[in-house]
Amino acid sequence: MFKKLRFIISLCFCLLFIQVLSAHAFTYPDRVFFHKPQVKVKKAKYVILLIGDGMGYWHVDALRRYLNVSKTNMESLRYFGYMTTFMRNSTGEGGLSGEYWDDPNELGSYDPALGGRTPWEIQPVPAYVDEGATDSAAAGSALASGHKTVKYALNVVPKPEGYPADEPFTVKYYPTIVDFAEAKGMATGVVTSVPFSHATPAAFIAKTQYRKNYGEIARQMIFSNLDVIMGAGHPYYDDNGNLREEPNFYYWSRNKGPYIDDEDGEALYEKVVNGVRGRVFVDKKEDFEDLADGDGLFHGGPMPRRVFGLAQVANTLQASRNIDDGDPSDDWKVGGQAFITNVPSLETMTRAALEVLEQDEDGFFVMIEGGAIDWASHANNMTRMLEEIIDFDNAVKAVIDWVNDPNNGSNWDNTLVVVVADHETGHLQPLNVTGDEVIKEQCWGLNCEGWHHHTNSLVPIYAQGVCARALKAKYDGDIKDNTQIFKVMYQAIERGCYELRIPE
Ligand SMILES: [Zn+2]
Repeated sequence: MFKKLRFIISLCFCLLFIQVLSAHAFTYPDRVFFHKPQVKVKKAKYVILLIGDGMGYWHVDALRRYLNVSKTNMESLRYFGYMTTFMRNSTGEGGLSGEYWDDPNELGSYDPALGGRTPWEIQPVPAYVDEGATDSAAAGSALASGHKTVKYALNVVPKPEGYPADEPFTVKYYPTIVDFAEAKGMATGVVTSVPFSHATPAAFIAKTQYRKNYGEIARQMIFSNLDVIMGAGHPYYDDNGNLREEPNFYYWSRNKGPYIDDEDGEALYEKVVNGVRGRVFVDKKEDFEDLADGDGLFHGGPMPRRVFGLAQVANTLQASRNIDDGDPSDDWKVGGQAFITNVPSLETMTRAALEVLEQDEDGFFVMIEGGAIDWASHANNMTRMLEEIIDFDNAVKAVIDWVNDPNNGSNWDNTLVVVVADHETGHLQPLNVTGDEVIKEQCWGLNCEGWHHHTNSLVPIYAQGVCARALKAKYDGDIKDNTQIFKVMYQAIERGCYELRIPE
């Protein structure tokens, strides 16, 4: 009897629910007391992932304090969360000795009881986060493919558990978000402030067992379907943007993995200059600026659909410069040492990449990396760290402006923007000051004794747009994982996310 009643009541609720959901399909006249809710599936035509390499929670805090603003550009995005960054073998050394990719039993982890439930909680065991931290290759792979892999590896599938040690094993690789986007006909690109063949951009397309196989990675990237590749690593320029006497093809040829010969880096470079895979080669600052302004190349020429942009500098856009500008006394200040003048900023490169990629009517995926935030943090150099994170945050602003621009087809209903870090570097400590005091009081590592490596700290996530809500921390201790970044991007382009909208 009660069972029957319960069934009827649930049926009524069920019918009511269906009615509400499909209300817009009926031709009821509008009533004052009932606004028709709409369930919409939103898919992302544009996915933009910005990675601050080594950018922890306190790095962003330092930026906000240095600028003395209430919010940085990345913090202005709607949703905030934080995530773990550990790799597959957090205790393993990895590297060149033996088959470093093959132990699936050594899983890394993050323990909130030791490292803290939020990035701002005082870590219960502060030294805990200094141990077993990921490198950028394993971290980049997790972001790009949604799978944890081992130190120094790019998208490598580990051996199955219990696989006999004496049996031959064919290494397999995970597909990345770039592969999935390309399969949908979307344009794709990677942009970085460090060499284009470095670990983070490499992780989005290259598959190899060792990140320092720069030659192999460069070849894979150059012959890939990427529409846009932009970064440093110019063989003919040094760290100050000056022409070298002899070119250096290290990032184009050097293979450090076992049993692999070096590539012919010079031949690869010549192919790029000659427009291999249809990419127009640019390396002058003014050419990047023409693209960024949407003017087309060479002041009013055609707008290329594919571009290889190589800044006229060796290791980093600006972070590795050492310029005698006649006044060393202000070198401790942001911009105190003169910037290289023939190199575009990451922000200019970002705008250039967006202008090129937006021409594809199927949309695009692009990864933009502030790569030298990590390099400056390894050096525990707050001045250079701030210079790099300022440029990165300006790149975030350029992305937000692009989404808000009513003239290019993008908006927050068809675009996903995620700003994240691959891991923290330097174990940067919180400060309570603003402006230049942030530089004077900088404190890296426990007890300010310095820490020149990566850490296992939780890193921040800032996101807005299609499916972005999934990355929001809903309560203190709602910790995400770096593999979820891939999953949210994948869902955004493949299936989309439901959103219930009740009109006001
Ligand atoms: Zn990194």
